[in-house]
Amino acid sequence: MILLDGKVLAQKIKEDIKKNIENLVSKGYRPPTLSVILVGDNPASQIYVNKKIKDCQEVGINSKPFFLPRDITQLELEELIGSLNGDDEVDGILVQLPLPSHINTLEVIEYINPKKDVDGFHPENVGKLATGRDDGILPCTPYGIMRLLQEYNIDTFGKDVVIVGASNIVGKPMALLFLKDEKSTVTICHKNTRDLKSHTSKADILVVATGVPHLIKADMVKKGAVVVDVGINRIDGKIVGDVDFENVKEKVYAITPVPGGVGPMTVAMLLQNTFDIYKRKFTS
Ligand code: NAD
Repeated sequence: MILLDGKVLAQKIKEDIKKNIENLVSKGYRPPTLSVILVGDNPASQIYVNKKIKDCQEVGINSKPFFLPRDITQLELEELIGSLNGDDEVDGILVQLPLPSHINTLEVIEYINPKKDVDGFHPENVGKLATGRDDGILPCTPYGIMRLLQEYNIDTFGKDVVIVGASNIVGKPMALLFLKDEKSTVTICHKNTRDLKSHTSKADILVVATGVPHLIKADMVKKGAVVVDVGINRIDGKIVGDVDFENVKEKVYAITPVPGGVGPMTVAMLLQNTFDIYKRKFTS
């Protein structure tokens, strides 16, 4: 069994970005800047944001954090985004999700300049992905999964891919990436799928992003499959995935660990997107 080690690959990618930034800064360019907006005090979101800020620092990206009160209005939030949209020194804008329920998340995402949309959630970037264009910004988690599969030479051509979870941030864009150039045959399952096992057990590549701890058991996975576990669930202070790793690992060709699989790749792709937006400004 091959362990798809996202931590090791993410580190390699970060070192590469760091070198590239050092090189450009030594030539007189300013460093890249990523604005990170956190609304409220959701503990998980705080952990994610702090990790993103730390990783930015590690590679030489200037992070510009905004910690906003939970009761901020839609208008106030959009005004801040508007000012960042118009600031030439700001390359990327990230709004940490979820937002409090009084805020319309889709409208906030639409308010971000699509060229600064480091998360790749803006409808313009989603549309570019859906229509197979290469000039959009890819959402970090599916992008990171593709990079991880490439690193381990896992070919997706002609493969049966099953994705469990159909969210806008993971499941749906993941499906579109596998569909690109009509490489894979894709099935998306979700909470209303009948007989989940009948689908998952046919998958050559199985991607699971549900937030249901240990949803996928060994008898739901085909022998020799590649399994990618996106889930992050906290149980008794321990982080576990959506896949019953200990039992599933015995029968697969390759599998991601949780933690240390998809998570670090997601942050690495955030840095990659920020760097790519910045670089495009100076080279195009
Ligand atoms: P979400 O809640 O937006 O969507 C969950 C999806 O799973 C939905 O489509 C739902 O229909 C489906 N689902 C729920 N229960 C199911 C069941 N019993 N059978 C089949 N499908 C079911 O979640 P999300 O934002 O896509 O995140 C999913 C998980 O991935 C969470 O644990 C989240 O923390 C994690 N996540 C991890 C990363 C990372 O970088 N590793 C990034 C994003 C999300």
